[in-house]
Amino acid sequence: MNTHCTHHDLIIKDVRIFDGTGEEERRGDVAVKGDRISAIGSLERSSSAAVIEGGGLALAPGFIDVHTHDDAQVLSQDPMASKITQGVTTVIVGNCGISLAPLQPDGPVPAPLNVIGDESIYQYPKFSDYIASLQSAPPAVNVAPLVGHSTLRVGAMDSLDRPATDKELDKMGACLQEALDAGAIGLSTGLYYPPARHAPATEVLQLLKLMAGTGGIYTTHMRNEDDHVEESLRESFETAASAGVPLVVSHHKCMGHKNHGLSTQTLKMFDEVRRHQTVGLDAYPYIAGSSSLLPEMVEQSTRVLVTWSQPYPEFNGWDLERIAEVLNCTIDETIERLVPAGAIYFCMSEDDVRRIITYPYTMIGSDGIPYGAHPHPRLWGTFPRVLGRYARDLELMPLETAVHKMTGLAASTFGLKDRGRIVEGAFADIVLFDADRIADTATYEEPIRPANGIELVLVNGLIALDHGTMLEACAGHVVLREK
Ligand SMILES: [Zn+2]
Repeated sequence: MNTHCTHHDLIIKDVRIFDGTGEEERRGDVAVKGDRISAIGSLERSSSAAVIEGGGLALAPGFIDVHTHDDAQVLSQDPMASKITQGVTTVIVGNCGISLAPLQPDGPVPAPLNVIGDESIYQYPKFSDYIASLQSAPPAVNVAPLVGHSTLRVGAMDSLDRPATDKELDKMGACLQEALDAGAIGLSTGLYYPPARHAPATEVLQLLKLMAGTGGIYTTHMRNEDDHVEESLRESFETAASAGVPLVVSHHKCMGHKNHGLSTQTLKMFDEVRRHQTVGLDAYPYIAGSSSLLPEMVEQSTRVLVTWSQPYPEFNGWDLERIAEVLNCTIDETIERLVPAGAIYFCMSEDDVRRIITYPYTMIGSDGIPYGAHPHPRLWGTFPRVLGRYARDLELMPLETAVHKMTGLAASTFGLKDRGRIVEGAFADIVLFDADRIADTATYEEPIRPANGIELVLVNGLIALDHGTMLEACAGHVVLREK
């Protein structure tokens, strides 16, 4: 409780404080000075340049989207409305093995590197160039970057359908080291995808060893999330343990009809491994995933929606089956004609989604893809959907717990210093929301729609959203690994 006379830049009065730790909410005022939280408690005697009457709204740390593909978006001085309107103030980029740097390709990049954009945006041969570019034009949200293993492979190898040779591995290692020295927070893999599918666990291990003892984290879109999900979990656990690095399993799911329900088993595996290893996971609150258009993903899905197609933009937002009828082709032929393309895949069960989202160590990551005309609704809806639908309406968890998953838990897992908590001295990343009204409005049919109930968003002490109006503060920091 801080009640002495201090001058603040802003006081937000009379709010329900959800401090990000998962502890029970408390009522009070929160003050901001510069880019930090300067006081919390009953602040009637403090003076301030500005006062906002909170009127009993909920105040929480700005949400941390631990799983994004915003690598290019954050460079463009885009106001990042899809994030800010959800209350997201920090994004982790470079997931699923895909990062914008270090790579400067000669021609088109292979799928799924094209989920963040085409070859024209891959123009950073060194990771430090990418970071310098981010720093020279501050983004709308804070950005913590991972290095992508597939990006390293594309840069070091002339063919991707085999393990890397020792020489190629040396080159990838040198690029990873440069990125880590520049402040990258860790390495991501996408072993499911064609560019990394032929990389054995030993290749990943060699790279991860460079991070041992540095605090660098390993995140993985595993080799398999359907029929061999348990085997892939074991591989991920073992690789991270052998290297001595913390692990995050990305967008955990059990894909394909015959694997529905398997999360009861997989979550037990997390319980067990967590007794002796630092392992976390993230998830998004939807039964459909989204990525490049790939035949093997289509096979595991009951319905597929095309999000974008380079040769056939007229089919954006259409069902794949309907496109096949119109083109008078088989599904396989249709896919061949549509690529390069992206898709939404209905491949999970609601029970698994609920079980995984409510698991105590699951963080929230949207996996939103800002590229394409008809994105998955998770891009605009993830965080309000967890708070509104899953915590409040379905009563699957207390609001404190839901907030913790998207703030304190995320910051501690990824080592984001002074973020994810409402505490004196922390960065003033703050979201003010109406707990009764908060809801996602983005749907599969109409995916680009801002959520309801987000009243105010501060990024590093500056107002980015005020009652529905974007202020384009561009106050984001580049969050680098503590050395
Ligand atoms: Zn992924």
